[in-house]
Parts: sequence; C-alpha cells; structure tokens
Amino acid sequence: MEQKKVFKTVWEKYDEYGLNCITNFGEDYRQFLSVAKTEREFVTESIKLVEDRGFVNLDSVKGALKPGQKIYAVNKNKNLAVFVIGEKPLTEGMNILGAHIDSPRIDLKQKPIYEKNGLVLFDTHYYGGIKKYQWVARPMALHGVVCRKDGTSVNIVVGENPNDPVVGISDLLIHLAGKQMSKPGSTVVEGEDLNLLVGSTPKKDCEKDPVKAYLLDLLKEKYDIEEEDFVSAEIEIVPAGPARDYGLDRSMIMGYGHDDRVCAYTSLRAILDMKTPMHTSCVILTDKEEIGSVGATGAHSRWFEMLCAKLLNLNGITSIVELNEMYSNCSMLSSDVSAAFDPNYAEVNDPNNCAYFGKGVVFNKYTGARGKSGSNDANPEFIAKIRKALAEDDIMYQTSELGAVDVGGGGTIAYILAQLNMDVIDAGIAVQNMHAPCEIVSKADVYEAYRAYVSFLKRL
Ligand code: MN
Ligand code: MN
Repeated sequence: MEQKKVFKTVWEKYDEYGLNCITNFGEDYRQFLSVAKTEREFVTESIKLVEDRGFVNLDSVKGALKPGQKIYAVNKNKNLAVFVIGEKPLTEGMNILGAHIDSPRIDLKQKPIYEKNGLVLFDTHYYGGIKKYQWVARPMALHGVVCRKDGTSVNIVVGENPNDPVVGISDLLIHLAGKQMSKPGSTVVEGEDLNLLVGSTPKKDCEKDPVKAYLLDLLKEKYDIEEEDFVSAEIEIVPAGPARDYGLDRSMIMGYGHDDRVCAYTSLRAILDMKTPMHTSCVILTDKEEIGSVGATGAHSRWFEMLCAKLLNLNGITSIVELNEMYSNCSMLSSDVSAAFDPNYAEVNDPNNCAYFGKGVVFNKYTGARGKSGSNDANPEFIAKIRKALAEDDIMYQTSELGAVDVGGGGTIAYILAQLNMDVIDAGIAVQNMHAPCEIVSKADVYEAYRAYVSFLKRL
C-alpha cells in the first residue's frame, strides 16, 4: 500500500491551485472581517451572504421540511442559526458548527457624555477580557445602534471610511510616566480611565459645558439623537480601519476580532457549500461568549432549543422524547480560536501540546483551568470519528491545550451545548495576540479549517 506523504505545514501540502485557494479565501475573509466588527454587523453581513445563496428565513417556511432545504433564523439581531436539511430525519441528529461573533471591546456607559477642562469625553466600560493598556493611544471607531423612544433607531459607524474622523483613549506621555511605569501591567491603565476623547470645540455664547453642547448639537444634526437616547443605545468602540495582510509574504491576516469571527466566517462558508447532506447541517453563531455566554443571545439562551422544537414541529413531531433523541444524536464542533505558539513567549506553552501557525485546524479535547475545570472534555469515541472524516478528505489538523498546565486557562461554548447530551469538541484556528486590538491568523489555517468544517458537515 502506498504510504501517504506527511507534510509539516499546510503550505507545503498544496500545489499552485491550492495555494491560490488559500489566498482567495483569505481575501474574502479579510474583507468580511473589515466590515463585520460587531455581533450585529456580523449577523447583517451573514444574512446577505446566505440569502444570496438561496437560504430563506424560517418565519416564511410552511409545511414539512425537505432534504436540501436551506433555512436561517435570527434572534434579536445578534444571534443567527443556519440550516441545510439532510436526507436523514432530524431525530437522527444534526452536525452543528457553533462559533461566537462577539469580541472583546470597549462599550459606552449608559450616561457616557461629559465635559472636563474644555474637552468632551465618553465614559466607557470594557467588554470581555482585555489588557487595558493595549487599547489606548490608537485610532478607534464607533459602531452601534441608538434606539429612540418612538421605536425608531439609527445605526452609527464612524471611523471606518478613510475620510471619517477617528476617536481614541489617551495615554500618559513617557516623560511624565515614571510613577505609571512602575505599576503592574494590570493597573498601568485602570478601567475607569478608559475615557474616549470625542471633541474640543466649544459652542459659542454657551455658559455651561459649551464643548459638550457643541457635540450634542452635532449628534442631533447628524443622527437626530438626544443625550438621553444613549440610555437605550449599544455603541461599541473598536479599532478603526480594515484588517490587513500581515507578513512580508502576506501569509497572515492582522485584524480586530478574529476571536471568534474567523471560526464563524469559515463555518458559515462551509454550510453555504452544502447541497443535501446526510445529516442536517447547522451553523449557530452566538453572542456574549466573551462575558460568559449569558443573556438571550448567548449560548446559554434556550433560543436554539426552541428553534429545534420548531423545526421538528414543521415535520409534525411534537414529542419531547423525540426532541431529546435529536439532541443526543447531534455532533458538534465548538468552533473557537486557539492560542498560537509565539516564539516571543514560548515558556507559556507545552511545545508538544500547543497550536502552531500553518499546521491546520486545531482540536482542543479540553480547555478550562486548574485541572481542566469548567471544560468540555470531549469523548475519544467522537474524536476518532472526526479523525476518520478528516483523513478521508486529506485535511491537516493539530491538537492543542490552552497553555502549559496551571499557566492560565479559558473557556468556550463547548460545554454548554454538550448539556443537551451532544458530542462536542473545540475545533478552531490558531490566533496570536488573542484579545488584543489586532489579532493575527495564518491564511493557511483559515482555509484548512473551512475545509475541515465542510468535511465534518458532510461525513459525521
Ligand atoms: Mn473565543
Ligand atoms: Mn475570546
């Protein structure tokens, strides 16, 4: 029997055609990431993508589901599920790809606007786990929505068009930072000091807070919003500008929010390519992972369960027994990013059990911290099935842990859907600079993960 050639990296595996696929897929993703910078924007852009490929909103679906039928459902503008109905009955389970579309960022407080010493600033509260000192002294953009009392709302994006202004959070000049520089990293920039500078022009003939008054006039004129409207707003402050090719060889992409939009995008592209799978294919894109998967749009929400009950109901199945049977038969990849080995900080990893750029999609049997605590420790029987599928499609993969033992830890949505008695494992893409304003991925890994997701949807 001919022995299959073993390659060290994805780059070496592909011929010229394959390398072109990596480049083209990377460029599609780079452009998508550059416009989908919030969970809402990701949902909006995804709907364009799926509708373009013939997927219809579940609300418009009547009667029994047919193999090959393409459906999507949206939850509160921040949570999306996409399905391609398979040959087998739903009760035999679905193959699910789950990723999260929220990323660490800085949010406006509900009463954000204040004037101080001739400057107008927005007060903020950061979202997710960030090293606060990384988010100062850099161009930032505002993305979000302001909802008015009358039920109307206005979307705001400032800082992305090259002609737009940008905003930002100041940092102390090095000349006067002696005391600051002697503080530990965790307090060198404090959360309450993440104040966004947004203006310095005073309103003429205005006694009280003239700079704030000028800004409020501007907001009224441009967006028809009042100061009070910020109470019902969701404005996210994110790094301004598009994602960029990274490295002189353009082998990587630097951008904001790879965690976890890189897995969300590749999962979405995988389901777009499904014709009529054996088992129903599903992609679920959730919100709020970075703060514990909470709320109605997070993975802990029962929305997905309600959705599944609705799908079965369309086929005339209303029994909870059969619903539970379906969950128990599901296979899921919790598609989330892994920490990429970084030669600058080699000591935090076990070199034999960490992820490297260019070595393909990454499987984490478990995540967690301090003795795997809080992790979904995947079943080996399930992992063996995945290995078989990936071998059949000649897909390169690696396995990893989040750092060396007891160095740190983290979690994903894997354990949450596993509570429905599904088989779940974490499978994603290696990222450098995770949770920094600019994260990095390898284009080879992005493409190989997409291929792995296609293989999983087809073969499990
Ligand atoms: Mn993540
Ligand atoms: Mn994260």
